[in-house]
Amino acid sequence: MSDPWFTECYRQLLNTPLAHWLETLPAQISEWQREHLHGEFSKWCKLLEKLPETTVSSKELKHSVTAGSAADISEYQQKQIEGLLKQFMPWRKGPYHIHGIHIDTEWRSDWKWDRVLPHISPLANRHVLDVGCGSGYHMWRMLGEDAAGVYGIDPTQLFLIQFQAIRHFIPAANIHFLPLGIEQMPALKAFDTVFSMGVLYHRKDPVQFLTQLKDQLRKGGELVLETLVVEGDEQTVLMAGERYAQMRNVWFLPSVKALTVWLSRLGFENIKVADINTTSPDEQRTTEWMTSQSLKDFLDPDDISKTIEGYPAPQRAVLIATKK
Ligand code: SAH
Repeated sequence: MSDPWFTECYRQLLNTPLAHWLETLPAQISEWQREHLHGEFSKWCKLLEKLPETTVSSKELKHSVTAGSAADISEYQQKQIEGLLKQFMPWRKGPYHIHGIHIDTEWRSDWKWDRVLPHISPLANRHVLDVGCGSGYHMWRMLGEDAAGVYGIDPTQLFLIQFQAIRHFIPAANIHFLPLGIEQMPALKAFDTVFSMGVLYHRKDPVQFLTQLKDQLRKGGELVLETLVVEGDEQTVLMAGERYAQMRNVWFLPSVKALTVWLSRLGFENIKVADINTTSPDEQRTTEWMTSQSLKDFLDPDDISKTIEGYPAPQRAVLIATKK
C-alpha cells in the first residue's frame, strides 16, 4: 500500500534542487517499510484502502483545508468515511473539512498559521520542508500558498496515516510526507524555506537540532521556527523537570532573547521575532476527534498563568531567520 506514496515522491524529486536526496531516501524508506510490514501500521493501511473513491467537487487550501462537499456523496458514504477517519484518532492537528465532515482536531492549527503566514517570504515556487509536520495540516496550507514542492518529515506512524487519509481526497503530486526524524536527514542544503513548529522543546539537544535545520537550507534560505519560550534575558533558559504541562518529553524553553543568541551563533542572520502568543484553552482542547485531556487540564485551575507543575503557562514565539 505505502509503495506508491513514496515512488511518486522520488519521481517528483527528479530535476529539482532536491534531486540529491535520492542518494539516501529510497534506501531509508525501504528499511522503514521492512520494519513496518506488520502490526498497527499495516492494519491502518488496510483501513485506508477502504476509503471510497469520491468525486471532489472543489478544494480550498488558502483559507482552510477543505475538500469536496456533503452534496458530492451519499449520506451513507459520508457516515462510512467519518467512521473510517475516526479509526485514526486521536486527531491532534487540523481542522480538516472533507465532504462536509468537520475533523475538529485538538489544535486549531489554522490559528498558528495565521500568526506565521504574514511574516514569511512568499512561498510561491519555493521548495519547503516542514520538520515535525504532524498530520500535515500546515503542509496543505503551504501548498495553498503555491509552494513548488512541500515535504514533511515526522517519525510518528499515525500521522503518516492521517496525512494519507486527507491526501486520498486531495490528490496532489507535489506534497509528500516522509516518516523520518530530523536526525535521519542528510545535510541537503537545498530547501528555500524550512519550517519547524512545535518541535524544538522536544529535542534533548536544541542547538544540534537548529544546526540540523540549518543543514537543510540553501544559502539565503529562510528558517521559520515556532517554539515554547519563557520571559527573560539572553541568559534565560528553563529546563523542564520530569513534566511540563503534563508532557514528559519537554527539555529546553529559552527566552526569545536567548533563542536569538543561539540562532545568531549558529550562522543565521536577519533574525526577526514575528509573534509571541500565550496558548489559550480555545486553541488546544478536547474534541470529538481527540477525547483525552488537553490544555485546560494541564494548567493550574486556580491560576491559569501557570502549568499544574508551577511553570509559566505555554507561551509560543515565531522566529524567522535567514541562513548566511
Ligand atoms: N508542526 C506541527 C506539529 C508539532 S507536534 C504543529 O506545529 O502543529 C511535534 C511533532 O514533532 C510531532 O508530530 C512529533 O511526531 C514530531 N517529532 C518528534 N520527534 C521528531 C524528530 N526527531 N524529527 C522530526 N519530527 C519529530
